[in-house]
Amino acid sequence: HIKKVNESYFGSYSSFGIHREMLSDKARMVAYGQAILKNPSLLNGAVVMDVGCGTGILSLFAAQAGASRVIAVEASAKMAEVASRVAKDNGLLLSKSQPEVNGNHKGVVEVVHGMVEEIDKIVEIQPQSVDVLLSEWMGYCLLYESMLGSVLYARDRWLKPGGAILPDTATMFVAGFGKGGTSLPFWENVCDFDMSCIGKELVTDAAQYPIVDVIDHQDLVTSSTILQNFDLATMKHNDVDFTATASLEPKLSVSENGKTNLNSKTCCWCYGVVLWFETGFTSRFCRETPAVLSTSPYTPKTHWSQTILTFHEPVAIGLGEENEGNPETIGTEVYPAVKIDLRVSIVRSTEHRSIDISMEAAGV
Ligand code: SAH
Repeated sequence: HIKKVNESYFGSYSSFGIHREMLSDKARMVAYGQAILKNPSLLNGAVVMDVGCGTGILSLFAAQAGASRVIAVEASAKMAEVASRVAKDNGLLLSKSQPEVNGNHKGVVEVVHGMVEEIDKIVEIQPQSVDVLLSEWMGYCLLYESMLGSVLYARDRWLKPGGAILPDTATMFVAGFGKGGTSLPFWENVCDFDMSCIGKELVTDAAQYPIVDVIDHQDLVTSSTILQNFDLATMKHNDVDFTATASLEPKLSVSENGKTNLNSKTCCWCYGVVLWFETGFTSRFCRETPAVLSTSPYTPKTHWSQTILTFHEPVAIGLGEENEGNPETIGTEVYPAVKIDLRVSIVRSTEHRSIDISMEAAGV
């Protein structure tokens, strides 16, 4: 079964559309480009491994940055072939017949077709001999696709002790969203028709699918907080599955007259939470030019969008006073909560490559 799933997973990466989408994602390209090209003391002369090279873009950057050897590993046969061709067409593929420039081969990229877990017999390389491990492994909600395990495998098997891993941190964030966010309100008015029965059915189902969509930061009604931090250099394989807690407080903004207010109201409904992530190329390894790749609603959108989880019932949040001044939605008997306590678990699913998310939320 797993073999079949892998075939269809790597098959999906052999269509060019998905690579085009990744290569056109400006925030992604700028962060990786900066980390690889603008840290010469890290990359110059380094032995680099690119886990899941796709079109080979990160390997090409590494070659350009002066790496002495770049091992580009790709499980999809089609993409491995494409990456070789692209590296060759740009004069960066390792080839004995390439002319030497100042005694060095300019072509330093070796494309290896196989899963990174199975390349031992295909490529000549000593265990723990790689200086820099590169990968773009992040999926929706950070962990969808579960490729992180392969990167950790490559770290343990091929990276030198103390070697660099790029990115080296990943952080998951959470915030609550209000009426403007997707979910229930969407179904209340579809071309002026009431489809709220669909919305209600969606959120009362015990198991609902998260929505991957862009959310406007103005639709957030709580503070944003960190749900979980991963240190790629030190984390263990089991850390990929986690349970974390967070407290969300009403988002206060200061209005023109200098008074704090909550989206200019004293309270409002919170319909659910939105998750997003950032990966860091920190100064631990990127000493000259650290970089951050953010998929936050507060920064320009990326192809990851955000991940939206809807509560079964909205929670009223506010400044702790009995409802005033918001007659539109909140009944007089409702006391808004001063914060929402969350517990979120994300675990790799038994269904290969997907994740199971569970969430408990309580207004307190
Ligand atoms: N590095 C490229 C592609 C990223 S997409 C870029 O930044 O544009 C991730 C790629 O990793 C896909 O092409 C997928 O086929 C490959 N991949 C995923 N798991 C892998 C594994 N275990 N071994 C080798 N390749 C893998």
